[in-house]
Amino acid sequence: MTQAVDSYEATRDQVAGWLRDHWDPELTVRQWWAVLADSGWGFPTWPSEWFGRDLEPVLSGAVREAFAQVGALGPPSSLGQLLGGPTLLTHASEALKERFLPPLARGEEFWCQFFSEPGSGSDLASAQTRAVADGDLFIVNGQKVWTSGAQWADRGMLVARTDPDVPKHRGLTYFIIDVDQPGIEVRPIHQMNDAHGFNEVFFTDAEVGADRVVGEVNDGWAVAVTTLAFERFMSAFGASPGKKAGLLDRRAGEVASGAVRGPREGAAYGADLASLVTEVARARGLAGDPVTRQGIVDLYIQQELGRMAGLRSAAAVRAGRRPSGDGSVRKLARSDLMRTAREVGEAVLGPHGTLRTVGEELGGGTIQQVALSSPSSSIAGGTDEIQHNIIGERVLGLPKEPQVDREIPFRELRVGTQRTGS
Ligand SMILES: Cc1cc2nc3c(=O)[nH]c(=O)nc-3n(C[C@H](O)[C@H](O)[C@H](O)COP(=O)(O)OP(=O)(O)OC[C@H]3O[C@@H](n4cnc5c(N)ncnc54)[C@H](O)[C@@H]3O)c2cc1C
Repeated sequence: MTQAVDSYEATRDQVAGWLRDHWDPELTVRQWWAVLADSGWGFPTWPSEWFGRDLEPVLSGAVREAFAQVGALGPPSSLGQLLGGPTLLTHASEALKERFLPPLARGEEFWCQFFSEPGSGSDLASAQTRAVADGDLFIVNGQKVWTSGAQWADRGMLVARTDPDVPKHRGLTYFIIDVDQPGIEVRPIHQMNDAHGFNEVFFTDAEVGADRVVGEVNDGWAVAVTTLAFERFMSAFGASPGKKAGLLDRRAGEVASGAVRGPREGAAYGADLASLVTEVARARGLAGDPVTRQGIVDLYIQQELGRMAGLRSAAAVRAGRRPSGDGSVRKLARSDLMRTAREVGEAVLGPHGTLRTVGEELGGGTIQQVALSSPSSSIAGGTDEIQHNIIGERVLGLPKEPQVDREIPFRELRVGTQRTGS
């Protein structure tokens, strides 16, 4: 244990030392990210030959802490860096890695994830978007939905059906597709929290090269599962990359200090919500009210349990174990925490909770933002029910969900728009 703490602290101190020598708020974001990419501290868990330092994932927290300590701008972070890079490192050819890892590491590109479709979210393997081979190209037709950040994206990780005559898990292919082309139309979806985080995206004879297949044709399910596994453990810091996000030519110091905001949703997911709600309760003269106190204590307990579950999971990984279902348990706890923060926070705010912005003494609008964003925690990255299924099967050893469609050719399934088929 002592050794693990030492290595955490040693890592943090090493990164902080490096940052003190190299962080220069006068650089542009583009220049700073190039320095970070060369150093390996932007993506330290990537291999050293690919912009990383072979760091154990459990030590990532130490790196983040060092960035916060020094006040340096963190690495570029779109789904390309968080999910695409690790997926390429696991499955892609050397040619694809050479093509795409450098612009991802340097923050020159923003990627999005073209997975979910109307009728195919939890059951991603039933995706209907088609990619048909045509010489050196595949021609893509179909629709994706809930695509976070497609409006800022240069490329997307696309799961599309290349063989409808085999069972659903076997006929999918994973591509890296260029977003800026005539066959792709990105339409905004505006949310109740006033953000425009995601989109619906239409593909009409869009083109993607056969050299953009990650893994093998028709073996995209295995690649998608890797992306989803990284999604469960995803943790972003830094700022949004790519030209469309508009940060590359800004001063890195301005972006690091928050004076210039990139395209991110404002919900304070990492915030100490229990303390925030406590302050608001004090400001509203409710700190002595027994019901309010009980709610705040519930919120505090959930927040602490989440923090401790994170520490327990980090300790388990350090000891060489990755507990089965761990990501699902923590994700469910996060959904619960967001719901409790919404209920307790709004009760404490009272009528002020109906306003979008309020004075700093009432939380400055953070609680309202958390309340309106709270449903997304229990849907994004796999719904609560799907996490319950995973825990049931992998942790509790309950029987697997019946999968009657597993061996049936995709073409014969009643999914998506095939639901009404003859
Ligand atoms: C903030 C946010 C960002 C997102 N970003 C992206 C993105 O960038 N790219 C992308 O591709 N997608 C994205 N998504 C979509 C997300 O992955 C899907 O919404 C999610 O997987 C659920 O799929 P669905 O919406 O089709 O719901 P469905 O799968 O249709 O589920 C509907 C309901 O049925 C339940 N259900 C479904 N299957 C089962 C089952 N087997 N057992 C028990 N209950 C079940 C669900 O839990 C849910 O309550 C995002 C979603 C959110 C909220």
